[in-house]
Amino acid sequence: MNRENASTALNYRRYKDGDIEWKRYEDKIFQAGWSHKCPTYVHKTPPCQGSCPSGHDIRGWLAIARGMDKPPVDGMPWQEYAFRRMVEANPFPAAMGRVCPAPCEDGCNRNEVDDFVGINSVEQYVGDWAIENNMSFPRPSKETGHKVAVIGGGPAGLAAAFFLRRDGHAVTVFESLPELGGMMRYGIPGYRTPRAMLDAEIGRILDMGVEARCGVRIGVDISIDQIDKDFDAVFWAIGAQKGRGLPVDGWDGTPNCLTGVDFLRAFNEGRLKYVTQRIVVVGGGDTSIDVASVARRLGHISTTREKDRPESVVLGHTAHDVAGTAARQGVKSVLTSLFPIEQMTAAEHERQDALREGVEIKGGVMPLEVLKDANGRARALRMCACTMDGMRPIPTEGTEFEIECDLVVSAIGQTGDMTGLDSLDNGRGFIEADRLFRVKGREAKHFAGGDIIRPHLLTTAIGHGSIAAESISKALQGIDDLPKRPRVDVHHFNLLDELRGRGLDPEKFEGPARGTSEADFAVHNYEDRSFAEIIPHGDLFLGHFPYKERNRRPEIHIEGDQVLGNFQERIKSLTEEAAQDEGKRCMSCGMCFECDNCVIFCPQDAVKRTKKSERAVGRYVYTDYIRCIGCHICADVCPTGYIDMGLGE
Ligand SMILES: Cc1cc2nc3c(=O)[nH]c(=O)nc-3n(C[C@H](O)[C@H](O)[C@H](O)COP(=O)(O)OP(=O)(O)OC[C@H]3O[C@@H](n4cnc5c(N)ncnc54)[C@H](O)[C@@H]3O)c2cc1C
Ligand code: SF4
Ligand code: SF4
Repeated sequence: MNRENASTALNYRRYKDGDIEWKRYEDKIFQAGWSHKCPTYVHKTPPCQGSCPSGHDIRGWLAIARGMDKPPVDGMPWQEYAFRRMVEANPFPAAMGRVCPAPCEDGCNRNEVDDFVGINSVEQYVGDWAIENNMSFPRPSKETGHKVAVIGGGPAGLAAAFFLRRDGHAVTVFESLPELGGMMRYGIPGYRTPRAMLDAEIGRILDMGVEARCGVRIGVDISIDQIDKDFDAVFWAIGAQKGRGLPVDGWDGTPNCLTGVDFLRAFNEGRLKYVTQRIVVVGGGDTSIDVASVARRLGHISTTREKDRPESVVLGHTAHDVAGTAARQGVKSVLTSLFPIEQMTAAEHERQDALREGVEIKGGVMPLEVLKDANGRARALRMCACTMDGMRPIPTEGTEFEIECDLVVSAIGQTGDMTGLDSLDNGRGFIEADRLFRVKGREAKHFAGGDIIRPHLLTTAIGHGSIAAESISKALQGIDDLPKRPRVDVHHFNLLDELRGRGLDPEKFEGPARGTSEADFAVHNYEDRSFAEIIPHGDLFLGHFPYKERNRRPEIHIEGDQVLGNFQERIKSLTEEAAQDEGKRCMSCGMCFECDNCVIFCPQDAVKRTKKSERAVGRYVYTDYIRCIGCHICADVCPTGYIDMGLGE
């Protein structure tokens, strides 16, 4: 199903009409309407957050958007409060909101009601607002005196630099290219990650006092040993810069056969201004879509001059003459994928846009051979239909065909460029790291994350950078035996932090104490299982939520006949009202959202609202255990699954 055309009706109900039987009686101990179990307020991680590789507190910032969680500082706009919450996990909300394929939305429990919450679009709205309103990051209040080198200025390196600098370390980012941003700048085209947006999000990290040394390649300009000597810790975030060629006859040494990353770098550096008349791109992921779509935008001009051929520009680091572009004409751009079209790894809306823009996509086909002309140049790609056995294509005999072309681009994956870094190479062009992102064999001082350990998404690289920064800070404090990561490894909501942020800290524990529901040193009735459990939709009372259509971002749809020379951005931000309304669609899985159901439905008047002066997110109601008879009605009517009949077990 096309995710963008998802449900326009209610999808699921926990109880159908007439369905009044308990499925598991052992969960519901009835004894003439009472039980020995009383409610506890149990905080769990929502699946959106569990599916976000950078571990965003999505439910938290959606609660801010809808106005339930009010800024703790008078006069702070809600957008700023949401922005501050977002960057606890990920300092690139405007970039994420544009190009993250949003696995969080696939995991969202609201899919079981009608349609996912537009998490990604709220992220973009807040990220854009932060740029328009010049949000900055504070410099650390204390310097630790430790020096950390970050090698690679892509999302992993910049995220690590942000978190390390927040911890008070002196951070130097070494970047081999002239500008920071990694694949956000040199891979993804500017109509998807606008450069002004990137400059703003990167600029505020540098403004914290992070030093950037661009145009310096570690392993070539500076040795690993030198870095080792000059810094207390090193984070390797060098990404996967080397594209893989096609493993077929005729590829090696053929001039007009290029890799996607080389092609896109030449385009993003402004050197490649046009391509050839017919291009075939082999892949199926984001890179292949970007190549095929960029080619449609660039167009071709009739030329036989050697220096103007795309390969001369892409590999020779020369540049096309702008004058020629006035005469550009359309390009036939064919994208092929081993997997059927609907299983391609590229984000679905990118695929839809590419099709609309006139890219021809052939799914379930595999390349067999590059066919060459008398001059040794590729003239066609021979292919056949295939089926997949896991990741292995099985050719279907008798289905061979040729696609005529004058440029073949391989976008089938990348590895790291380990020039001068042989001692870190695991033999497959990557660096081996453990769950704490320590480099195997160099655990004390060297850490690695992002595409160089496992190519995936921007948000994944950023998540690595954030966890690695934690590991590095601990190692710099002299903690040799780093603690294990929790099972649900995200930026957890913490009620104590929430209370502290509002000046509601519990009193100091003077101990010993036992069985009190009065003393102020404890947060009563509350249990945190967010580090171990993700709340499934079956634990929510979905009947509470009526159908509510998703607020969609306005999109600019570029048709095939308008794409030539068109480099405008295609998605627009939500309005403030739409972002707030989308916040209201969030069901707050695993966290009280102050609906009052439990207060209203309790037959014993045992559930009470917390005094206004003591309220915080996650502390809105409490149970008077003297009055509670354990009837479990509050747990049943709680829409968010926040209540467990656990106390007394
Ligand atoms: C074309 C393309 C499109 C993509 N589209 C998307 C998308 O839509 N959504 C998404 O989520 N992800 C997308 N990705 C994936 C995403 O860009 C990567 O997962 C992410 O950029 C990885 O971050 P990184 O910091 O590990 O590496 P990179 O972004 O590659 O950054 C590494 C940096 O290290 C520098 N470097 C390398 N070696 C050295 C050295 N020896 N010394 C100094 N500096 C060095 C490089 O120049 C580079 O700037 C795309 C990738 C590509 C290639
Ligand atoms: S970074 Fe991606 S996965 Fe995480 S919240 Fe944003 S859109 Fe969702
Ligand atoms: S409804 Fe809200 S909290 Fe629940 S999974 Fe979706 S976005 Fe997350």
